[in-house]
Amino acid sequence: MSKVTFRKAVKRYGTFTALQPLDLNIREGEFLTLLGPSGCGKTTTLRLVAGFIQPSEGDVYIGDENVTGIPPQKRGIGMVFQDYALFPHMTIEENIGFALKERGDSAGAIRTRVWDLLELVELQGVQERYPSELSGGQQQRVAVARAVAHTPRVLLMDEPLGALDLKLRESMQIELRNIQKNLGITTIYVTHDQIEAMNMSDRIAVMNQGVMEQIGSAEEVYDKPTTKFVADFIGQINLIPVDLPEQTNGHAVTGYMGSEIKVGLAPGRILPTKRAVLGIRPEQLDIVPADTMPNGVNQLSGRIVVARFVGNVIKVEVEIGPEQTIVIDSHPSLMPQLSGGDEVAVTWKPEAGFLLED
Ligand code: ATP
Repeated sequence: MSKVTFRKAVKRYGTFTALQPLDLNIREGEFLTLLGPSGCGKTTTLRLVAGFIQPSEGDVYIGDENVTGIPPQKRGIGMVFQDYALFPHMTIEENIGFALKERGDSAGAIRTRVWDLLELVELQGVQERYPSELSGGQQQRVAVARAVAHTPRVLLMDEPLGALDLKLRESMQIELRNIQKNLGITTIYVTHDQIEAMNMSDRIAVMNQGVMEQIGSAEEVYDKPTTKFVADFIGQINLIPVDLPEQTNGHAVTGYMGSEIKVGLAPGRILPTKRAVLGIRPEQLDIVPADTMPNGVNQLSGRIVVARFVGNVIKVEVEIGPEQTIVIDSHPSLMPQLSGGDEVAVTWKPEAGFLLED
């Protein structure tokens, strides 16, 4: 396993910049996920490590080696794609052992390695079969075994679970992560599925239009998003346009339609200076009777538009201003008390909100 480093790496296609200057350190043994919407530059970033494309500027390192300009087969990488890309005319054993045979390993050494890998991916006994005789999930486990057979320095995976149905995808997320941990291999993983990213990663790099907007653990990008895009992309969020904040007594103070709002100040947080939005997660909000006196919490009054039962929570939409609604996750037991048209107040703790540049 090796660390991977981007130093001011840029990728341009003609006049279009697919990857803006990127400085990134991926640690040895780390599972880093590139997450973002279609076209944001995830695959471009991965392909720069693979060597299928070269940076227009800057460099990519695997370990301490500058691999810029070095072809893929000489980089010591393993790759897994969405479509498995197994060789249909080869048995599972031949598929997994392919790279080992190419480099001239002995038949005995290949067999031992293949059997170890089949054990690792929990597919003992299928070595004689052909890919078409395995399920999608099993084929993808074979693809992983094949990708790591030659003990690469880095494992690259591009939407590897994209072709599987939801239930299988969820169990494969855990399996893939366990395999990666067992091998201790540095892994870069591409997905546009935020739940998948949160389930699997040590760190998530959230990308938007060729820019890595934030890199952090699942908790960091969810609880402390640093940009409006990240806040909006990860999980459900209420974004309320508010007054420009001022800093007083360890809090930021802002306002919405004449109501004062306090916001906890996380260390190192820079307050917006042009236009501000307040972000609050639906599960951080409470609904209380309209005449409740605020006590150490922020409070906005509004009117229930609709309350929808969605299983584990009730999604309550409350209108708090002209064309401004917010969504609150309430406990299902409160459903009988929540009717469309009711005047209510919405409360939250100052530290539950965060201020972002609009
Ligand atoms: P998806 O989730 O849809 O695969 P992505 O985030 O992986 O998207 P990339 O494949 O990295 O996105 O593409 C980033 C941008 O670069 C896109 O706008 C894409 O159209 C553009 N792009 C990619 N390859 C080329 C190319 N060979 N020539 C021109 N533009 C390209």
